[in-house]
Amino acid sequence: MDISIVVPLFNEDESLPHLAEWIDRVMKEHGFSYEVIMVDDGSKDTSWQVIEKLHAHNSCYKGVKFRRNYGKSAALNVGFGVAEGDVVITMDADLQDSPDEVPELYRMIKEDGYDLVSGWKKVRYDSKIAKNIPSKFFNWTTRRMSGIYLHDFNCGLKAYRRDVVKSIEVYGEMHRYIPVIAKWAGFSKIGEKVVQHRKREFGVTKFGMNRFINGYLDLLSIMFMSKFGKQPMHIFGAVGSVSFLFGLISLIVVVIMRFAGRIALTNSVWFYMSMMFVVLGALLFVAGFLGELVCRNSSTRNQYLIEKEVR
Ligand code: UDP
Ligand code: MG
Repeated sequence: MDISIVVPLFNEDESLPHLAEWIDRVMKEHGFSYEVIMVDDGSKDTSWQVIEKLHAHNSCYKGVKFRRNYGKSAALNVGFGVAEGDVVITMDADLQDSPDEVPELYRMIKEDGYDLVSGWKKVRYDSKIAKNIPSKFFNWTTRRMSGIYLHDFNCGLKAYRRDVVKSIEVYGEMHRYIPVIAKWAGFSKIGEKVVQHRKREFGVTKFGMNRFINGYLDLLSIMFMSKFGKQPMHIFGAVGSVSFLFGLISLIVVVIMRFAGRIALTNSVWFYMSMMFVVLGALLFVAGFLGELVCRNSSTRNQYLIEKEVR
C-alpha cells in the first residue's frame, strides 16, 4: 500500500463527507493504493455514523472510535499503530489542510528520501491574535531549543516514512513536537513544504489559548526527556554532587572557624546555608537513583535501536 492517511477528529461530522470526497478524487487521479484511517476522538456528534457509512461504501476507509475525548496526540498514536502504507500522512479533519498536497508530500518521502516532511502554513487563515502571533513565538522557541529548522511545528499536515511512525510514541499533547520526537528517535532528515491553508468551514476550533501554556511545558519536558530521559542520573547526579560537595566543604570551614573561636555555630548564616546544600545534594542524588530505577523498568528502554541488519 502506498499511502495511509491518518485523520484525528473530534466533532467534525459536517466536514468528513467533503474531506472523503476530496481525498478520493486526489488518490484516484494519481492512482495511489491507499487507506484513510479516521480516528474519532470521542465525538459527541454524528461523526462516527459518518465514518461507518464511508466504510460501508469503500473499505479503504477505516475507523477507530475512542470511548471519550483523549486528545489529538492519542488519536494520532492509534492511527500510527494501525497504518500500513509506505508513507503515512496526517491531516486535520476540518478541511483546513488540502488533500491536494498529498502527492507532492509522498514524492518528497519516496524520492527525496526525507524521513518526515512537515507542512508550513505560510499564509494562515486563523485569527491573528489568538493564533498567528503566539504561534510565531512558539515556533521560534521550539526551533532554538530543538535545533530543527521548521517554521510550523504544529501543522496538522505532515508526511512520514512508515518506519518513523512505528518508532515513536505520541501522548499527552506532544503532537506539536512530533518532529522533535522523531529527531530524538534518530530520524534526522526532516523537510518542510509550504502548504495551502484554508478557512475552517464547519464547526469550531478545539484548542483555546491554554495551548500555549501547555505547549511550553511540553517543550520543556521533551527537551529534558531527550537529553536525560534515558540517564536521569547524569543531570541529578551532577547537580547533586556539586551541591553536596559545596555544602560539605563550606560546612567544614564553618566548623573549623567555630573551633578557632571566630563565630558561634548556630548564629552563622553560613552554617544553615551549608546544611541546606548538603541536604539538597543528597536529595538530588536520591532523585537521580529513583529516575534510574524507573528507566530500568521502562518497557521501551531498548526499543527501536536497530535500523538495518543482515544475518
Ligand atoms: N482534534 C482531535 N481531538 C481533540 C481536538 C482536536 O482529534 O481533542 C482534531 C480536530 O478534530 C481536527 C484536528 O484535531 O481534525 C485539529 O484541531 P483544530 O482544527 O481544532 O485545531 P486548529 O486548526 O484550530 O489548530
Ligand atoms: Mg483546524
